Amino acid sequence: MNELLKKTAAEQSKALKNKEISAVELTKAAFERINSLEDKLGAFNSLTQDTALETAKKVDEKIAKGEDLPLLAGIPLALKDNMNLVGSKTTASSKILENFVSPFNATVTEKLLNNLVPIVGKANLDEFAMGSSNENSAFKKVHNPWDLKKVPGGSSGGSAASVSSCEATLALGSDTGGSIRLPASFCGVVGMKPTYGRVSRYGLIAFASSLDQIGPFARSVEDAANLLEVISGHDPKDSTSLDMPVENYADFLKNDIKGKKVGVIKELTGDGNSPAVQKAIDNAIETYKKLGCEIKEISLKNLKYSIGIYYILATAECSSNLARFDGVRYGYRCKNPKNLMDLYTRTRAEGFGPEVKRRIMLGTYALSAGYYDAYYKKAQQMRALVTKDFTNAFENVDILIAPTCPNTAFELGAKSSDPLSMYLTDIDTIGSNLAGIPAINVPAGFDESGMPVGLQIIAPQFMESRLFNFAYQFEQANDFHNKLANI
Ligand code: GLN
Repeated sequence: MNELLKKTAAEQSKALKNKEISAVELTKAAFERINSLEDKLGAFNSLTQDTALETAKKVDEKIAKGEDLPLLAGIPLALKDNMNLVGSKTTASSKILENFVSPFNATVTEKLLNNLVPIVGKANLDEFAMGSSNENSAFKKVHNPWDLKKVPGGSSGGSAASVSSCEATLALGSDTGGSIRLPASFCGVVGMKPTYGRVSRYGLIAFASSLDQIGPFARSVEDAANLLEVISGHDPKDSTSLDMPVENYADFLKNDIKGKKVGVIKELTGDGNSPAVQKAIDNAIETYKKLGCEIKEISLKNLKYSIGIYYILATAECSSNLARFDGVRYGYRCKNPKNLMDLYTRTRAEGFGPEVKRRIMLGTYALSAGYYDAYYKKAQQMRALVTKDFTNAFENVDILIAPTCPNTAFELGAKSSDPLSMYLTDIDTIGSNLAGIPAINVPAGFDESGMPVGLQIIAPQFMESRLFNFAYQFEQANDFHNKLANI
């Protein structure tokens, strides 16, 4: 492997500017790495070599002319395969979209291309982003670069594995209930979910629209901050996108956090965490104390209901969002339908996988006339209470910390026959989706078998710059991020 692939985007940008390597060479090196690993890893559904090299060429032309480069120009990036890129297959890892070719770009894709970021391929995921282990992909499983027998986490498992194995330097994922942070923690990389509305969802295949957010994966906090800056901003094509100026997040990384208050979420610490995860939290507390912060225990009373709330709201929303896949307008269509009803039912029965069907059924049930008040309405009310818990907490502390997951990556197949135990892996992450607030995973240690452990940091709405500041300070005070998966 070209050693430069192991470096951060910031270091690669320097190398490009100093002409140590050209953008085309760097992109080609990424493809060599991808081609040598993909049989084992399964991180990509498809590669977009032509688009990537075309973009890289433009970067080299700019360098040759001595022009300034946009942020992250020339840095290889993996795009989760639920975001549209013109001319590429966008499958959401579902048979129902297996042959769907994007006729348009997602807003994030457009922004990446404007900044001349070479998109190397479409990263594997759980079908329609539903899952926590990436085992729900209709095509193939993703393996964890730290131990190929283990899951990479989901649903953005391909994005996390590609960055962790240096197939790509950056990636985008989407996070509805933890799908960026969980795989980031299992694969030992940085993964961040922004405030709801910070990044446009236009061109992202919808799962649960009130929860979905696109966010960055990287091997350093600085790179993640820069990638968020590139993809953020108001978009008239997404009515939920925020009309707020985009900050230069990297400017805040080095701010002194002395005297700030760090809250440790009581309900997510202690019993219930594996010893390695709890040790990482204890170490994080010590780190912040050494950095001069005051530590406070914070109780979020309603957080214990978040999994129940989420699996009603997310399934309700997905049952509506996925109604469009009916074999009429796009995607898979069953063979020889007898009539319209047969076309709908067989297309959906043959096109969707078991987890997606389970969720459509659950969601349809929760929204049905006789049960709406008991389930959907109640879950909405409870969502407001969880949000209020966070708002109250942030009156007393600047930032919150918790594990990203109670355990490290598990073996492939270990939970696939038990959906409830799979749903429980999201216990630490779902709260911030319900509340719409930003949260990040940073590498925070290793368990007894050498698998990465993640620390989650959570900030108030719109406080991405504060989130990156605390994440960077933690990262720099430790050296967990310097260890790469040995693959
Ligand atoms: N694991 C959660 C689920 O299956 C979260 C998925 C996500 O964030 N996209 O719904």
